[in-house]
Amino acid sequence: MSAPRELLLDLQKVSAGYGALKVLHDVSLHVGKAEVVGLLGANGAGKSTLVRTISGHLRVRSGTIRHGGVDLTRLAPHRIPQHGVAVVLEARNLFGDMTVAENLGLALRNGRQRVPRFSIKDVLNLFPVLTEKYGTPAKLLSGGQQQMVAIARALLLQPDVLVLDEPSTGLAPKIIKDIVEVLQQLRSEGMSMLLIEQNVSMAAQLTDRAYVLSLGRIVYEVAEGTWKNTLESGALADAYLGGGMKSVEPRPPVKESRQ
Ligand code: ATP
Repeated sequence: MSAPRELLLDLQKVSAGYGALKVLHDVSLHVGKAEVVGLLGANGAGKSTLVRTISGHLRVRSGTIRHGGVDLTRLAPHRIPQHGVAVVLEARNLFGDMTVAENLGLALRNGRQRVPRFSIKDVLNLFPVLTEKYGTPAKLLSGGQQQMVAIARALLLQPDVLVLDEPSTGLAPKIIKDIVEVLQQLRSEGMSMLLIEQNVSMAAQLTDRAYVLSLGRIVYEVAEGTWKNTLESGALADAYLGGGMKSVEPRPPVKESRQ
């Protein structure tokens, strides 16, 4: 058996929600060093809510979020990357009027003060199309290019753990392929990642192990080395269908914040 991995991101019994709606119920999960972990779930399962609690945009009602032993639970969003966790939100949150260069430059200023693992040159090598778009305002880029800028910006924060909320959503197959290749490269270089996905085959391709979230609870875990058996057994489909298929209500603006 291989030695246990060093623990990086560690969520213990995290609960969160919006007003009277409790969405996450005692969610515990972890990501180890050089490990890629998936978080799967149907629409409305609470995946993005979990990401917003990790990024600091949504208050944790109970439980803890720790990284490398440091308690991040009550930190404001701008403090999270300084502790080594970079989050790519589904909305990407780029500054539309700023160029690609300016969006990336901001990350260099806001990231961790340490010897950088990624330079601008590195991220442009990962996403060559951004070189020709370097002086273009982000709002004029395609959705796929914006996703690339969002991932590149997160890498320039010099994270130990990269959290990606459904990076393939709404993108053309060719762009998804490019992004999958970059994530595979990062994985081979030992980047720790929490990959939120609805696409099971993409998660199986990219992750070492995975959790399934249904109605705000972890209902199933795919252990390391068991992806093939899990897919063949149909257990994942059962976990998905066992309560995960819930209609999604219209979303009013986020009310709770710890900014
Ligand atoms: P999807 O894959 O469709 O993005 P998800 O798994 O990311 O789904 P969430 O977006 O976290 O799910 O939503 C979980 C629940 O929280 C849903 O019932 C949703 O309606 C509710 N919800 C999400 N955002 C808000 C909000 N800003 N205010 C109120 N309720 C919300």
